[in-house]
Amino acid sequence: MKTCPFCKGDIKEEMIDHLHRWGKEMYLFENVTAEVCSQCGETFFAPEVLELMDNHVKGKLKAEKTISIPVIRLTEKAVA
Ligand SMILES: [Zn+2]
Repeated sequence: MKTCPFCKGDIKEEMIDHLHRWGKEMYLFENVTAEVCSQCGETFFAPEVLELMDNHVKGKLKAEKTISIPVIRLTEKAVA
C-alpha cells in the first residue's frame, strides 16, 4: 500500500472530480482517476492524467459543458 508523503496516511485510487487551476482560469474535470490520501485528502495524479488535463486546458480537446462557480474574495479578517 502506498503512503502519503505528507502525513503517511494510506493512499487509495479513486475516481474524483478535480478542480484544475490554469493561470486565472479554472477547469473542472470529472471522473479523474487519482490517488487520494485517506487521512489528509491530498490528491496525486499519474503523469499521463496530468498530461491529458493539460491537453484539455490548452484547447486541444473539447469541453463537455461550461459551468459557472461563485468566486468569493474574503477581504476582512475573521474576528473571533
Ligand atoms: Zn496525507
